[in-house]
Amino acid sequence: MLEKTYQNKWVAHWNTHRKPHDLRDSSRPWPHTRHPSRPYDVVLTRLRLNHTRLNSHMAAKKLLDSPLCTACDMNLEEDVQHFLLVCPGLNTQRQSLLSGLTTIGIVNPTLSQLLGASNLEPEIKIQMNHLVTRFVSESGRLKNL
Ligand SMILES: [Zn+2]
Repeated sequence: MLEKTYQNKWVAHWNTHRKPHDLRDSSRPWPHTRHPSRPYDVVLTRLRLNHTRLNSHMAAKKLLDSPLCTACDMNLEEDVQHFLLVCPGLNTQRQSLLSGLTTIGIVNPTLSQLLGASNLEPEIKIQMNHLVTRFVSESGRLKNL
């Protein structure tokens, strides 16, 4: 009874506080998302929650003056989408990511797919977690994401 009350409050909060960048339309647990390495699991969680140390989030928290990416000259905010899918400063690392994704049957991945919010098979999601965390590691952002 009490648990159901808190669950209902959480769902109501979720529905009223969602933001446009939210990846999911459900408050249910993420399926098959754990990474066996704690640091990589933390990184995946930060990316999924959009609670990172990327410039857009740091500027939103008034911890940086500019939300713009400093790894490229596109004059775009360094948010999760930019970091994982757009920034030309990470093209080398991204080519490795995209190549790995192609080998598991994923072409032109969406941000939601990369972060595990899709209906892909659990084995595919696990492989994708490894590829995404390898990308983060190769980007040099593992310790400061
Ligand atoms: Zn960039």
